Amino acid sequence: MRLEDGFKLDFDDVLIRPKRSTLSSRKLVDLKRSFKFRHTEAVWLGIPIIAANMDTTGTFEIGNVFKKHKMLTAIHKFYSLEEWEKALSSSQISPEYTAVTFGIEEAENAAIFFESLKKKNIECPKFICLDVANGYNEKFLDFVKKIRDQFTNPIIAGNVVTGEMTEALILAGADIVKIGIGPGSVCTTRTVTGVGYPQLSAIIECSDAAHGLSGHVMSDGGCATPGDISKAFGAGADFVMLGGMLAAHEESGGASIERDGKTYKEFYGMSSDTAMERYYGDIKDYRASEGEAISLEFRGPIDKTIQQILGGIRSAATYVGAKDIKDLQKCTSFVLKYK
Ligand code: 5GP
Repeated sequence: MRLEDGFKLDFDDVLIRPKRSTLSSRKLVDLKRSFKFRHTEAVWLGIPIIAANMDTTGTFEIGNVFKKHKMLTAIHKFYSLEEWEKALSSSQISPEYTAVTFGIEEAENAAIFFESLKKKNIECPKFICLDVANGYNEKFLDFVKKIRDQFTNPIIAGNVVTGEMTEALILAGADIVKIGIGPGSVCTTRTVTGVGYPQLSAIIECSDAAHGLSGHVMSDGGCATPGDISKAFGAGADFVMLGGMLAAHEESGGASIERDGKTYKEFYGMSSDTAMERYYGDIKDYRASEGEAISLEFRGPIDKTIQQILGGIRSAATYVGAKDIKDLQKCTSFVLKYK
C-alpha cells in the first residue's frame, strides 16, 4: 500500500479570487475559442462546452439548440443510423458542433457509420468520442490507436484522471482527453468501488500533462453550477462536459413524471440499472450498477439555462480580468476555503 501525500481538491474546495480588471462589461468577454489539434489538420471555433453523451442529454434536440450557440453535443450511442441521417440531412444538428460516440468494442461500427453517411453525401460529425468508464485498460489504448489510424477527425478519449494516462492517450492518438472518474451527479462509482479523484485536482494535473504535448483536456462530470464550469476552465480545462445541468429540460431525454401537481423528468447514469435494463435488457451478474436514477423538477426550455451558464462564465471572466475563455486559465488564482 502507498498513501499519496498532499491535498486533492474538488470544485467546492476553492473559490476564484477577484482581481483588478480593465474589462468594463461582460459583453466584452468572448467565450468562443479557436482550436488546433495535435493529430489532425482540423480547426474548430466555438464555445467549448459540450453536452454529455448520456441518452438524457446527448439528444438531437439539445444538439439543435447548442449548435445555435456554437456549443458542442456528444450524441448518445442509442440512435439508429437512420435517425442520424435524418438529423444531419434536415440540419436539426450541425456536423461542426457534433461528436459521435463509440465504445471500446465498436471500431467496426465506427467504420460502418462514417461509410454510410459518406455514401449518401451527408457530412459526418466533426468529433469522434471514444468513451469508456475506465480509461486505464491497455485495450483502450489499442482501440484509440486503431481509430486514429482510420480517421482524421479530432478524437476525444477517456475517462482518466492522472497525468501519465493523459499522456499515454495523447500519444496513442487522442486530441482531447476526457477527465473524470466518479464526479458525475448520478455516478455512484466512488461509493460502490471507492475509486475516484477530486475533479479540480484531476483537471489541474491532467491539463498540465496534456498541454505539454499540445493535447487538450475535457473536464467531464461534477459541474453543478455555472461557477463550477468557470472553475474547471480556470483550472486548465479546454472543454467542459455537462450532464446533470442539462437534464430535465424540454429538449432533454427521459420520461416526464407527474407527481403532486408538479412535473419531473427522469435522469439516470448510463451505468445505472435503469439504463442497463433499457439498452441491454438486464444487468450482467458479475457487475454492480455504478449510477443512480433520480427525478428532477422540469426546468423548461434549455435556452434559459444556457443563458445562465454563459452569463455566469462571462461574469467570472470580468471578475479576474480575462478577455476570453483561454485567458480565464491564465487569470485564475484559486483560494482554498476553510472547512
Ligand atoms: P454531471 O455533469 O451530471 O455531473 O456528470 C456527467 C458525467 O457523468 C457523464 O458525462 C459521464 O462521464 C458520467 N456518468 C454518466 N452516467 C454515469 C454512470 O452511470 N456512472 C458513472 N460512474 N458515471 C456516469
